[in-house]
Amino acid sequence: MTEVQSTPRDFMIPEGCPVCEADLPVRVTANGPNGVCKHCGWFGRPLVTVTHQGLRISFEGAQA
Ligand SMILES: [Zn+2]
Repeated sequence: MTEVQSTPRDFMIPEGCPVCEADLPVRVTANGPNGVCKHCGWFGRPLVTVTHQGLRISFEGAQA
């Protein structure tokens, strides 16, 4: 078990926006990660997976 994250955590994913490839700020809360691009306004819920190469970010459907 991983510890429960009760405090939101913020990450910056370099070139993480799937639309404009700007840096994507991602906030991880108890409800899961939530990313909002400040550049183009895209938002979605990235899947954050820890790999041997580091954090891997992937996206399901962007439509809510
Ligand atoms: Zn963007």
